[in-house]
Amino acid sequence: DVTATKGLDFEELYIKRELLMGIFEAGFEKPSPIQEETIPVALTGRDILARAKNGTGKTAAFVIPALERVNAKNPKTQALILVPTRELALQTSQVCKTLGKHLGINVMVTTGGTGLKDDIIRLNEAVHVLVGTPGRILDLAGKGVADFSECPTFIMDEADKLLSPEFTPIIEQLLAYFPNDRQIMLFSATFPMVVKSFMDKHLKQPYEINLMDELTLRGVTQYYAFVEEKQKLQINQSIIFCNSTNRVELLAKKITELGYSCFYSHAKMLQNHRNRVFHDFRNGVCRNLVCSDLLTRGIDIQAVNVVINFDFPKNAETYLHRIGRSGRFGHLGLAINLINWDDRFNLYKIEQELGTEIQPIPAEIDKKLY
Ligand code: ADP
Ligand code: MG
Repeated sequence: DVTATKGLDFEELYIKRELLMGIFEAGFEKPSPIQEETIPVALTGRDILARAKNGTGKTAAFVIPALERVNAKNPKTQALILVPTRELALQTSQVCKTLGKHLGINVMVTTGGTGLKDDIIRLNEAVHVLVGTPGRILDLAGKGVADFSECPTFIMDEADKLLSPEFTPIIEQLLAYFPNDRQIMLFSATFPMVVKSFMDKHLKQPYEINLMDELTLRGVTQYYAFVEEKQKLQINQSIIFCNSTNRVELLAKKITELGYSCFYSHAKMLQNHRNRVFHDFRNGVCRNLVCSDLLTRGIDIQAVNVVINFDFPKNAETYLHRIGRSGRFGHLGLAINLINWDDRFNLYKIEQELGTEIQPIPAEIDKKLY
């Protein structure tokens, strides 16, 4: 069982009663392995690099210590949580609000694509925990509106994504606004080598924890179906990934024409449209969501049990994150990959790299598997 723990209870982690109340009200009974390993160390202020499987509770593993260390009476920002996408920022701020409900603190989320002026007004009030995407946060720091001069904690979720060339310059600039003795915590399911140089440069004797091991894709049965491009349309369920914005729109249109309901989302859509789709899909308004890699990382919707790669991804990392949208927190999941002739080597390569098996799809799929 991927959620089995050493057996510590939340009460044994030295967190205040008001925070415990939030945790229990969220329905968490016991800490997951990554939470049990990380929270006590994080509470000491030590830098952390934590790697754990998708869906095993990494969010609470950094939100709980961040909240525990916030002093509600101090109006300054005391934790920054940085994430790569807007949808993930919304989801993460919601976790902070839920768990921190009884702490009397203010959590604010800010992302690109929304009014900067509103953000500036909201930052006039005490904001104890700030959650956001890199560009907007840097903007606010640069304007002197977001103040990290006494902020003890800097958290990066999906840290390897945030430390990819696209974002690294922003992260470096942001760090300069923090005090020298700030704590940095990096979380992800994947840590390619690019992260190493950042670690060596900015982290002080980090506590490194890796709970990936052989558990990587346990709980998710993976199939491939060999199809020709024109046969791909016979499937209808859950999160369906395409490799480009154009193909997302085309597929969504086709599915709708075939009489099935579906939503779609990609980075070229207006932000409020994106937010509405994400919100409605999470609330079960529609069963199928077609999307680009925009929603590949971090998104946690427990009702999603099937992921379809309508287009097979180019690399193992993307594959792992996409498939990890199903099988959340010990639930079972099913992944179906539509493979065409050009994908055959990639299929083999990804299987090898992840040490996993993607089987040919059987005529009938056992319902017990997902
Ligand atoms: P990750 O970031 O590792 O992919 P998340 O933080 O998104 O995983 O958590 C996955 C799911 O597990 C969420 O729905 C969350 O509410 C749930 N969860 C997290 N910690 C616990 C816990 N200790 N007990 C029960 N459910 C939990
Ligand atoms: Mg996550």
